[in-house]
Amino acid sequence: MILPPATLGMLGGGQLGRFFVSAAHEMGYKVWVLDPDPHSPAGLVADRHLVAAYDDYVALDSLGNECAAVTTEFENVPADTLDYLTKFIPVHPAASAVAVCQNRIAEKTFLADNGLPHGPFAVVRSEDDVRAANAGLFPAILKVARFGYDGKGQSRVADRDEALAAFQHFKGEPCVLEKMLALDYEVSVVLARDEAGNVRAFPTGENRHRNGILDVTIAPARASAFPSEGTQLSAQEIAERIAGKLGYVGTLGVEFFVCRGELVVNEMAPRPHNSGHHTIDACDASQYEQQVRALCGLPLATPRQHSAAVMVNLLGELWYEDGKGHGAYREPDWSVLHAVPGLRLHLYGKHHARPGRKMGHFVVIGDDAAVVLERALAARAAIGIRDE
Ligand code: ADP
Ligand code: MG
Repeated sequence: MILPPATLGMLGGGQLGRFFVSAAHEMGYKVWVLDPDPHSPAGLVADRHLVAAYDDYVALDSLGNECAAVTTEFENVPADTLDYLTKFIPVHPAASAVAVCQNRIAEKTFLADNGLPHGPFAVVRSEDDVRAANAGLFPAILKVARFGYDGKGQSRVADRDEALAAFQHFKGEPCVLEKMLALDYEVSVVLARDEAGNVRAFPTGENRHRNGILDVTIAPARASAFPSEGTQLSAQEIAERIAGKLGYVGTLGVEFFVCRGELVVNEMAPRPHNSGHHTIDACDASQYEQQVRALCGLPLATPRQHSAAVMVNLLGELWYEDGKGHGAYREPDWSVLHAVPGLRLHLYGKHHARPGRKMGHFVVIGDDAAVVLERALAARAAIGIRDE
């Protein structure tokens, strides 16, 4: 067991890392963050921020020497970086698990090989692969295999010609071509798994996206998001099976589509998940505390959600006069949110707001799920988020 006042290492300095730093600090640990951005949200609150690239071996050596263990908040950390650090200190999750989650081809192949539910797809490495793809895949989404997030690196294509054009636009990068599914709902499971294989899942969340970016999470998911009896159980079972097959240690997010009452795995995130932010406010142990516990070999908490919760993401366009990214740049009027009962605002301290950039979120908690949802959606409108 790694116990305080040990120093923990975090690869990546985004908001997920920032919440990890807070959880670790509350528990008595110190945290060093590695992120090339001098203004990174986690770097700002870390005990030390190494402003360096993920393949800067001088920086990795000092992490390896000063930290008792290292984890990540960012799936695009190079596998070589994780492998290198493994020579010095425990690294969780392991490079092999992160490698599956950071490449859509490896991820889809993993699901297929393990008999886990996934949507129809084709691997695209060449124009010939597009020409050979099953006609039944269209209309489809072409997604670059690596480095996509928040809907970036994705193109919706009606037919084969559009897919070819999109593949050229992505400069021939390896891709997956996914059939466009009619989504009844999207749900996600966040869980933690320890080295002994114990798993603790949070209640399944219901997610609403806008322009490919998470907008609202309702937690726990409403019964309507589970059209067939027992679906919630199986979402957790599937997520648990994934974690087991990956030999995963840490906090894992698994995104699902619900299509005609069937669960389909969309993708996995080898880190805490945006749809688990509310676990800070609405559960007696957060996904970040679980990440610390799994990393340090402490017993996992058995988290209890004590309040209904709705989370709303605050994206960069909100900082612009028209709420869409145009006009004068100004701070949103936070007093509007602070007036809402049960609302907790979290801002990440990012330097500059760009449209689509995750700048913060708020969570509304309470006893009555319907009231919480109503309040959260009213607050979302009041701060200026519009559904065009
Ligand atoms: P990201 O890494 O950006 O989260 P996702 O693959 O999760 O990428 O896609 C983002 C969102 O786009 C999904 O949450 C979903 O709303 C929509 N989407 C992605 N793939 C499909 C699909 N095959 N069919 C329908 N909608 C999809
Ligand atoms: Mg996603």
